[in-house]
Amino acid sequence: MARVPVADALFTWPSDDPQLIGSRCTSCGIVTFPVQESCPRCAFTDMEEHLLPRRGRLWAWTTQSFPPPSPPYGGPTGDAFVPYGIGYVELPGEVKVESRLTEADPAVLRDGMEMELAIVPFRTDDEGNEVVTFAFAPVGGAASGGGA
Ligand SMILES: [Zn+2]
Repeated sequence: MARVPVADALFTWPSDDPQLIGSRCTSCGIVTFPVQESCPRCAFTDMEEHLLPRRGRLWAWTTQSFPPPSPPYGGPTGDAFVPYGIGYVELPGEVKVESRLTEADPAVLRDGMEMELAIVPFRTDDEGNEVVTFAFAPVGGAASGGGA
């Protein structure tokens, strides 16, 4: 079974250490994710590809406990839907990324928690390929106590 990305140009794939693919304005240096054609700050149109760091800090989160509107959502619905976490992860000095989280229980997440990029199964397509998407996972697992 092949593992295929949910969309092109979202993250480096295949890779043992995948990174999100963003863009950086060559004029003012602002970083965006996903890639944008022009700068949201200064409207400059010379954006270069910029790979984002794999780790960041959790900033805000919630639980997606029902399937989002489709489209754009293309994942499981009905009985196949499994609640998942969704949140913002601040990549230091770069950009805040809205992302799926591997942890769906808000009780185990903490403000400022260190998170690392993970590639996770999303759905199976009509050809039987496993479609994967990106998520952020708590570093060292979600267990509390014992320090980080
Ligand atoms: Zn700019």
